[in-house]
Amino acid sequence: MPRHPRPCSCPAARPPSPGGHRRRLADRFPGVGGRGGRGRSCLGARRLCPSPPGRRRGPADLGPDRRRAGVGMSLSPVDAFREAPRVRALAQTLARRVQPGRTYRLMEFCGGHTHAIAHHGLPDLLPPAIELIHGPGCPVCVLPVARLEQALHAARLPGVILATYADLMRVPGVRGLTLMRARAEGADVRMVASPLDVLSLARAHPERVVIFMAIGFETTAPATALMLQAARTQGLANLRVLCNHVLTPAALGAILADDGGARPDGILGPAHVATVIGAQAFRPFAEDAPAGRGVPITIAGFEPVDMLLAIDRLIERLNAGEVAVDNACPRVVAEAGNPKAREALAQVFCRRETFDWRGFGAVPHSALRLAPDWAAFDAEACFDLPDPVAPDPPGCACADIVRGRRRPGQCPLFGRLCTPDTPQGACMVSTEGACAAHWTHGRFRDLPAFGAPA
Ligand code: SF4
Repeated sequence: MPRHPRPCSCPAARPPSPGGHRRRLADRFPGVGGRGGRGRSCLGARRLCPSPPGRRRGPADLGPDRRRAGVGMSLSPVDAFREAPRVRALAQTLARRVQPGRTYRLMEFCGGHTHAIAHHGLPDLLPPAIELIHGPGCPVCVLPVARLEQALHAARLPGVILATYADLMRVPGVRGLTLMRARAEGADVRMVASPLDVLSLARAHPERVVIFMAIGFETTAPATALMLQAARTQGLANLRVLCNHVLTPAALGAILADDGGARPDGILGPAHVATVIGAQAFRPFAEDAPAGRGVPITIAGFEPVDMLLAIDRLIERLNAGEVAVDNACPRVVAEAGNPKAREALAQVFCRRETFDWRGFGAVPHSALRLAPDWAAFDAEACFDLPDPVAPDPPGCACADIVRGRRRPGQCPLFGRLCTPDTPQGACMVSTEGACAAHWTHGRFRDLPAFGAPA
């Protein structure tokens, strides 16, 4: 599921005044070397909670009226992972940790990390020696146009309701056609927030066939599996799944096999995926990899303190020349993951021999399909869906961006033809896309074309 960083509930972390939110980073965090030098546009770290470490805001901080109303109290455990003093201390540690003359290319695998990093302004806190590059962990972004064309075809079949997540609705296919446009032209396309909504649709429309265009990594696949088990239990014979669930380890393997110069020095692993597959699933790409092929991987949560802790651990490993998996989010990630979720996956799905990814092409054993026992629910088995050769939109650099070979600002369409209002590629549509993150959180101001010094 797409993940949105939750705004901090601390009053001091609310959107500051127009003049205040552009204060110099150095003014806010003295001693921390930000990347934005004087004269360079720099949003600085945002959404950080200024409460000192070890002391949470509580009723004693409030007046009697606000105390009675519960206004302004910081009750969220998440705030502890956004406190400015902790973030500042970690940034200072990182500044001391990097070795002179060395660069560190770290890939944030997950699109959720990409957005959280941009949202909190973390690049401005890091020493220039640390470069964060985007990875393929945005399921909408890595879905090839051909699979979207299958969904468009399925949506136009008579008697069909096509259900999918909102992220996919505006992704342009061949000639720019989207599911949103198909709906405007008469196709019955529904946005759903969860597979439970698909069950409700199937129950409410027994005379129609409901096809669920399922996408996502191991985070969303268990929900699809549980939906299918519930459909079978409830005797829903009108539900089908067009399965596009993809697998994180396969993508990691493809990233590390990259011979195009985009191989990272270390990887920030996605904590939400790791809650399902466990830290163990990352070890074949680190300490269990063939000699010279592994990289250090640190599993990271999605708050600023989580991510800086993970980056610090990666830098430590790289400085020591060690290759290992570290779990920087032990509050949710276990070594073996979630056995019940993995059991549900094993009961409903099997691995595809191969699956096409945008940017990677065919990757062996990188995606799931419904197991033979579930063929009655498999849209690919029940309908004659096309398998077109469908290139990416002309000029779109999504294929390079999802594997870290280019940054959004290096796409010639970024901010010109391609904005969130006029997306040309999936990376500008998805809430986890790197181009959307750069645009939404103002990182484009780093680009000379948008006013920054060349
Ligand atoms: S800016 Fe638009 S066209 Fe360019 S890579 Fe991103 S999504 Fe594709």
